[in-house]
Amino acid sequence: MGKLVIVGTVAFDAIETPFGKTDKILGGAATFIGLAASHFNIDTTAVSIVGGDFPQEYLDLLSEKKIDTSGIEIVKDGKTFFWSGRYHNDMNSRDTLVTELNTLADFNPVVPENYRDAEIVMLGNLHPIVQSSVLDQMTTKPKLVILDTMNFWMDSALEDLHNVIKRVDVITINDEEARQLTGEYSLVVAARKIHAMGPEYVVIKKGEHGALLFHNDHVFYAPALPLEEVFDPTGAGDTFAGGFAGYIAKTGDTSFDNMKKAVIYGSTLASFCVEKFGTERMIDLSSEEVHKRLLQFKQLTQFDIELT
Ligand code: AMP
Repeated sequence: MGKLVIVGTVAFDAIETPFGKTDKILGGAATFIGLAASHFNIDTTAVSIVGGDFPQEYLDLLSEKKIDTSGIEIVKDGKTFFWSGRYHNDMNSRDTLVTELNTLADFNPVVPENYRDAEIVMLGNLHPIVQSSVLDQMTTKPKLVILDTMNFWMDSALEDLHNVIKRVDVITINDEEARQLTGEYSLVVAARKIHAMGPEYVVIKKGEHGALLFHNDHVFYAPALPLEEVFDPTGAGDTFAGGFAGYIAKTGDTSFDNMKKAVIYGSTLASFCVEKFGTERMIDLSSEEVHKRLLQFKQLTQFDIELT
């Protein structure tokens, strides 16, 4: 059984979609990644920071999901990271309304001692210097380092982002962000340029249009499961990353073939995330439901064709 270190935000989110609106609810990249990874029965720790306003019941919830929270620093007189976003009618694009870094502005991550030899490190969306600092604390070289990022950090810390991208094996990024990072419209050309920045594997997430995994000249494509209802896409990208990282940590196999399966697990878990607001759907998701949807996924993508 592998160990997984996650670093990312543990946050309050306020979300508006065409279907409704929430007040501050539990969110954050590390939260979504952790909830997805909790389906693989691996040892997982979340490294993050919150303020004194963060409810103990949320921390308890993560612990119940067997996510070690000893790496989540609590700043008693500080405020938790807050993000607010509004989705457009297509549910594929959104505007960020507010990003309040709060305690995150002075965050020095500390990886718990017993996780410094973890095989898999998932650098969730966060300041690239914080992501680098987590790598510096690992006492043995991880088998696989995965990084997720977003336009916010490209706009505010591009040089630091390039420095950490050099150090990772896999990057997961959405299509628009891949275009912004490379200045290329074609995702194939963008993936090639990102390879040249360091990562051997590039995953480009395309929301309801699935995900592409690039490795040298090989490409694997997984569609997103066509869903009757998409309620709130927040966290889908992180949930995908958590499913991907969790599956690799569980199997210990970092081959391209196994990464294809990890992409399928990531896509399957993300398909649940969007069905309710925030983390709501992921909190009560059972392994039977995941299994059933994996079968649906198989049926969706398998076909026999006679080539003459
Ligand atoms: P996703 O929809 O997968 O891109 O992730 C949404 C989550 O990312 C939300 O729960 C937010 O709390 C978190 N988030 C939003 N902006 C940032 C940021 N600049 N840095 C880190 N996490 C963020």
